[in-house]
Amino acid sequence: MNKPKVDSERLWAGLMEMGRIGATPGGGSGRIALTDLDREGRDLFVGWCREAGCAVRIDRMGNIFARRAGTDEARSPVMTGSHLDTQPLGGKFDGVYGVLAGLEVVRALNDAAIETEAPIDVVVWTDEEGVRFQSSMIASGIFAGLYDLDHGLSSADSNGKTMGQELERIGYAGTEPVGGYRVDSYFEAHIEQGPLLESEGKSVGVVLGAQGKRCYRVTVEGEEGHAGTLPMDQRRDALLGAARMIDAVNRVAFSHQPRPVITVGAIRARPNSPNTIAGSTEFTVDSRHPDGDLLAAIGDDLRRVFAEVADEAGLGVGIEQTTHRPTVTFDPSCITAIREAADALGIPHRDIYSAAGHDACNISHCAPTGMIFVPCEKGISHNEKENAKPEDLAAGCAVLIQAILERAN
Ligand SMILES: [Zn+2]
Repeated sequence: MNKPKVDSERLWAGLMEMGRIGATPGGGSGRIALTDLDREGRDLFVGWCREAGCAVRIDRMGNIFARRAGTDEARSPVMTGSHLDTQPLGGKFDGVYGVLAGLEVVRALNDAAIETEAPIDVVVWTDEEGVRFQSSMIASGIFAGLYDLDHGLSSADSNGKTMGQELERIGYAGTEPVGGYRVDSYFEAHIEQGPLLESEGKSVGVVLGAQGKRCYRVTVEGEEGHAGTLPMDQRRDALLGAARMIDAVNRVAFSHQPRPVITVGAIRARPNSPNTIAGSTEFTVDSRHPDGDLLAAIGDDLRRVFAEVADEAGLGVGIEQTTHRPTVTFDPSCITAIREAADALGIPHRDIYSAAGHDACNISHCAPTGMIFVPCEKGISHNEKENAKPEDLAAGCAVLIQAILERAN
């Protein structure tokens, strides 16, 4: 068999050309979902796919599927892709890389005249970022059967425009049903959006899954009092109690290995007056870890240490879980295909967990799924300064081709 060869310059040129649509002064891109700029980006991609011989389908959520035919059309497609929408001041690589890496797979297979048994679909998922309609990854979620179509189409922006209306307006309200058919497998290439690969000099991350998240709202109850008259040993200071609890949160994080990330990002004291002892204080805890059991254990730890602090200080404490996003584990055979491809190509790699959510996390609920990470400069993402090296992008794409060939033949 011929060897497919990634054209690194072609891949880079595509990224730069897409990046010019909605270019921002700081060198990034702003293509918010279902705007005119989003349409321009979609049109550019669809044009490239047609030139590469793909048949393009669009479903009712505006997800785009560009198909490179297989020799056995009865087989379920191997899918790859990501998203073209960005943050308002986003970069040129988040999402776009995964889409254009998929296109490069098609082009490289065309160049080498390689046929596959299963068809290959390069996918653009609508509105991954969730900037405008307030719900990220909704279209891939509907495809995976996690939400219903009406929920997606009726989601409205701050001006009351719904996704359904805006899809019509930009010409991407397709007729295909959203999902509901068998997908052989799904691979998504993406920049890491974190610093691990770059700091270790690895070109590829073999993504094992995505970390889960549990968030809490903690309410500490004490008693208000005069800052000048109430002696220190008679106070029930809710803000002081919250401060001790926040310190304990940090210690809980450091007590686990591998270490979770736990953040107290918001706090509100009542009455929030400089000369009144706080009668109550509310703060948030955001905890994330790839191991769901450990994440649950961290919740137990927090409850225990909060109760200890409250007890000691004569305070009341209430803990309410506000978010639970379960951990995602990718498919072992897809993970192996990616790791073996990197080995066979001699590309330095490491196993890694995704710290952020991706469309692949949704698709893992309806198809065997794997993700390939490539390093980005200093781990910076959701930022105009987002950057990546052409050789790393090409390495990730080479791994993607091999993993897809493994599944499609
Ligand atoms: Zn992304």
